[in-house]
Amino acid sequence: MSDCFHQIFEDESIAELTAHFRNLIRIDTTNPPGNETAAARYIADVFEREGIHSKIIEPAPNRGNIVARLNGDGSKRPLLLMGHLDVVVAEPDKWELPPFSAEIEKGCIWGRGTLDCKNSVALWMMVLILLKRSGIRPKRDVIFLATADEEADQRLGMEWMVDHHYELIDAESALSEGGGFGISVMDKTYYTYQSAEKGIVWLRITARGAAGHASVPQSDNPTPKLAAIVDKLSKKTFPLRVTPTVRKMIEIMAADQKFPLSFFIKQLCNPLLSDKILKLAVKDETIVTNLHAMLHNTLCPTVLRAGSKVNVIPSEACCEIDFRLLPGYSIDECYHDLKKTVGSGFEIDVIDARPANESPDEHSLADSIQKIMHQYQPQAGVLPYMLTGTSDACFLRPKGVVVYGFTPLLPTDDMSLVHNHNERISLESLEFSLKIGLAVVLDHIMEC
Ligand SMILES: [Zn+2]
Repeated sequence: MSDCFHQIFEDESIAELTAHFRNLIRIDTTNPPGNETAAARYIADVFEREGIHSKIIEPAPNRGNIVARLNGDGSKRPLLLMGHLDVVVAEPDKWELPPFSAEIEKGCIWGRGTLDCKNSVALWMMVLILLKRSGIRPKRDVIFLATADEEADQRLGMEWMVDHHYELIDAESALSEGGGFGISVMDKTYYTYQSAEKGIVWLRITARGAAGHASVPQSDNPTPKLAAIVDKLSKKTFPLRVTPTVRKMIEIMAADQKFPLSFFIKQLCNPLLSDKILKLAVKDETIVTNLHAMLHNTLCPTVLRAGSKVNVIPSEACCEIDFRLLPGYSIDECYHDLKKTVGSGFEIDVIDARPANESPDEHSLADSIQKIMHQYQPQAGVLPYMLTGTSDACFLRPKGVVVYGFTPLLPTDDMSLVHNHNERISLESLEFSLKIGLAVVLDHIMEC
């Protein structure tokens, strides 16, 4: 690690980060209703004691976003450090420990938001505090942003900030969530940085017909009409599309293997062989489905509604479809593709949509991530990565901000606990995240 790092980082910083992190977990920001302002106020109070001015922006009562800035010398454009304050619902009776207790057991801090993503919020908060205390003057402003409403439709969070307060968060690049975790692939550990996200088009398809008594079945019954469409859609396949992020990810993994495995991995980018390789050569079902989703658009019927009584033919039946599109496809294109598949006689409404987005994997911020990870764990690799879900990055990348999902976590932390019962982060990972996070930020803003 650099001299700057050793000047700024102290062992006590880990205890301090842990304390702030646990306090944030204990503030219940389940969305809905959110109540993010309570968490934003906690951060604002801590910042105030450190002499950091911050601003809470509340688009609706109790739905606070918080922004703070450390000024650099202005020679380079700002770096944004961001995370979201809200969390998804927890069912306490399914947890081994109460989800808002932040209790420490088995070497982990337990609680809703420990992996998604109060760990990012607490990490960047601590990095900002350490930078402020050091008195250094970086080449870039460092902006801290914790948003509301990421787990719902983002309207009161990042979308609001981009539409109404963009001047406060305008940056060249950003570090966010959705990457930074370690994964083990074929006996090698890789750390990810998320440089692409799939987009969403959520649609509702409605079939209509004539209502009537079910003792006299009729051809105009919307329930079987809709069922046929759901069946057709669930069998729909999409062509292979290799985006720059996934191509690089596959190339790096192939380069780390010997022939013939290296050859087979590369064929995942070959339209003639990709699906066969996935089916035959990759044994782990989770890896297969994830890789498949990174290489294709996907479509998943999820909600069905038809009828309310067994002897009544309903006049309408509808299903909701979760369509995920790769970078390179527009929302319009996907809507028309689906419309063509469904054919006439159905109404199709877009419930919600977010564009797919991708940042170039070559940028000085990616160089900082590569450099620091290599210094810290020379035996591990670093992979660009595509999130099949969506995050706040979808509002920033279209504005030209280079966003990487990078909140460092050790491979021993279980990412399947995100949105799941018993979400927890190891104390070891929290320490790792502060060391790596601070070092990457310093490398990028000081070039030291
Ligand atoms: Zn999240």
